[in-house]
Amino acid sequence: MAKSSIEWTESTWNPVTGCTKISAGCRHCYAERMAIRLQAMGQPAYAGGFELALHPEKLRQPLEWRKPSTIFVNSMSDLFHEDIPEEFIQDVFETMREASWHRFQILTKRADRLEDLSDSLEWPENVWMGVTVERQDYVTRVDRLRRTGARVKFLSCEPLLGPIPGLNLESIDWVIVGGESGPNSRPMDPAWVTDLRDQCLNVKVPFFFKQWGGRNKKRAGRDLEGDTWSQMPMPSPVPL
Ligand code: SF4
Repeated sequence: MAKSSIEWTESTWNPVTGCTKISAGCRHCYAERMAIRLQAMGQPAYAGGFELALHPEKLRQPLEWRKPSTIFVNSMSDLFHEDIPEEFIQDVFETMREASWHRFQILTKRADRLEDLSDSLEWPENVWMGVTVERQDYVTRVDRLRRTGARVKFLSCEPLLGPIPGLNLESIDWVIVGGESGPNSRPMDPAWVTDLRDQCLNVKVPFFFKQWGGRNKKRAGRDLEGDTWSQMPMPSPVPL
């Protein structure tokens, strides 16, 4: 199990690595930078760099991890990428169902394929399904997520690239917001963040503010108008 520095999870599991860019939020993809670094270090799983690669030998890993953990699935890829066979996705879900002592978090930008496959997937309580909504023009991903059978549904508005007014949060259990970090990161207007926080407060959806990101030099860390927002979906199916 790889420990994660991402604030809203504990560890990562990558039965698939590599991806292709499909969205504005992909421009400075962290997974791409990491994959190229790991390739240079000679890591066998990254022999092809950021090219999509399946790792069937890792499919059953979480069953070997006995200590309950919150696990981000495919932090180095997108589980609903068009080149990942449906049977492989089914195998990932089978492991998550069997490893019921863990909590799994999946995040995709391919909400169309997620919706298409949803009815053929079994959705256990310990699987949290999220879509990225980095800008207003991607809100249809939220509608697609809403139509899936996922028991816990969340949004990751990161890297937040514009305002998202009037977000429909019906049936959404959690919203994460964060600015872009790393080289050439794009700025995030604080008003976009406070508006999303207020929208969540209005309809009592847990809100998690992850970070300001690289370009907000005057604003550091996770402080938002004097508060740290680390709310999580409740009730939690698996204790932290
Ligand atoms: S979907 Fe995610 S992993 Fe794939 S290129 Fe975009 S940001 Fe990177």
